[in-house]
Amino acid sequence: MQQFTLSEAAAWTGGTCTADPVITSVVRDAREAGPGSLFVAIKGERFDGHDFIGQAIERGAAAVLTHRKDETYSIPALYVEDTRQGLLDLAGGYRAQFDCPVVAVTGSVGKTTTKEMIASVLSERYDTLKTQGNLNNTIGMPLTALEMDENTEAAVFEMGMSAFGEIAAMAACGQPNIAVITMIGTSHIEFLGSREGICRAKMEILEGLAARGGIAVLNGDEPLLWEQKDRLFGRIVWFGQNNPGCEFRAEDISCTDGTLRFTLIWPEGRKTVEVASQGTHNVGNALAAAACGWLLGLDGDDMAAGLAAYRPVGMREQRYEKNGFAIYQDCYNASPDSMEAALRVLGEMAGGRRFAVLGCMGELGDYAPDGHRRAGRAAAQYADYLFAYGPDTAYLKEGAVEAGMDAARIACFDTHEALAEALRAAAQPGDALLFKGSRAMKMENALKLFLGEE
Ligand code: ATP
Ligand code: MG
Repeated sequence: MQQFTLSEAAAWTGGTCTADPVITSVVRDAREAGPGSLFVAIKGERFDGHDFIGQAIERGAAAVLTHRKDETYSIPALYVEDTRQGLLDLAGGYRAQFDCPVVAVTGSVGKTTTKEMIASVLSERYDTLKTQGNLNNTIGMPLTALEMDENTEAAVFEMGMSAFGEIAAMAACGQPNIAVITMIGTSHIEFLGSREGICRAKMEILEGLAARGGIAVLNGDEPLLWEQKDRLFGRIVWFGQNNPGCEFRAEDISCTDGTLRFTLIWPEGRKTVEVASQGTHNVGNALAAAACGWLLGLDGDDMAAGLAAYRPVGMREQRYEKNGFAIYQDCYNASPDSMEAALRVLGEMAGGRRFAVLGCMGELGDYAPDGHRRAGRAAAQYADYLFAYGPDTAYLKEGAVEAGMDAARIACFDTHEALAEALRAAAQPGDALLFKGSRAMKMENALKLFLGEE
């Protein structure tokens, strides 16, 4: 971070400060506070950061950002109406000091993957800052923006959301020059009502974009986006696997041994590219990344080299052999769209029988029955056995049976232990197993138990 003064922060946030110390870092965890740091007291689900101001002071923090206007502290304070918004405003003012290009990425599925691919592509030419891991909410995103400094030549921010207004708030903070929407799926439908609602929430990323001369990179395979083609303002670059109207397209798609290969087609050329990926669902993500690179001046060789340098992060898309089993571990998260994509990968895995070991999906609300049935149907299509875990396994089973899987090949469990034990009895070396579920399902633990690692 580049240092600023508390009075500059007051101007950015519209708050008032009691003194004007120099700030060299911004932290939200009091344990990370130290000399020079501004401690941002944020009320979370379980804790209120205001209760840790004393700890931040003990650790030598330079100042505190607070909305408890009636309290005084032994260190300088910046008082704002609401510290969550205050952090966004602070980071927005800070970000406005830099004129390097910022790419914002949102979408129901594939944000982290696409963010990593974009960063990989841009790194061919630019010193690129990116969101670490999945820090994509209204706290993580501004904290990432605050990492920009004089060496930053490009930045990629992931923007996730579960409610209306969050993307708009993050877009106002990050002031992207390029905004990417990966796809409109069904994630977080619980809070957004419908796919149209999800689409509207994602479109918030376009707010202010055209006014800044920014460019939108949109998925032309997504009907909800493509049908708005003639109504959208500003420059748009469309990418799509199946839509010939898109500027960025793919042909000759193949995927073997963890390498996705396709011919990248862009306005000035075509080139074969390779991406480390287990399935063809990443074609769109890679096209979006190439489009961002192209918009920022990269040529075909740079785009190809950047995509080739991409590696999956976290617990996503890990494929390996263990104890004689072919394992596809994609436990980071799950939604109906990504379940289907992962099951398709399982279906293409060579070897013996295929086991879909699925944890249930969260945040689907009223769509939970349908979403799980859809995943169940995909399991019947691509797997020989379904081992299910979590609260909505009945719907998974329903979908699988409906699509023709013999009920005797479906088993539902309430504990990882029971699932792992039954799976050990059923699976044989040579079989292929997909482990996937929502983060809360922690399917990586079921996998460890199955492999005897825990
Ligand atoms: P989160 O909301 O948790 O931040 P995300 O949008 O960042 O999720 P990723 O973490 O990139 O998404 O991917 C989540 C899962 O979706 C992974 O299993 C990944 O393989 C799969 N996935 C990624 N892109 C697509 C896609 N275009 N279509 C279907 N599945 C996808
Ligand atoms: Mg993510």
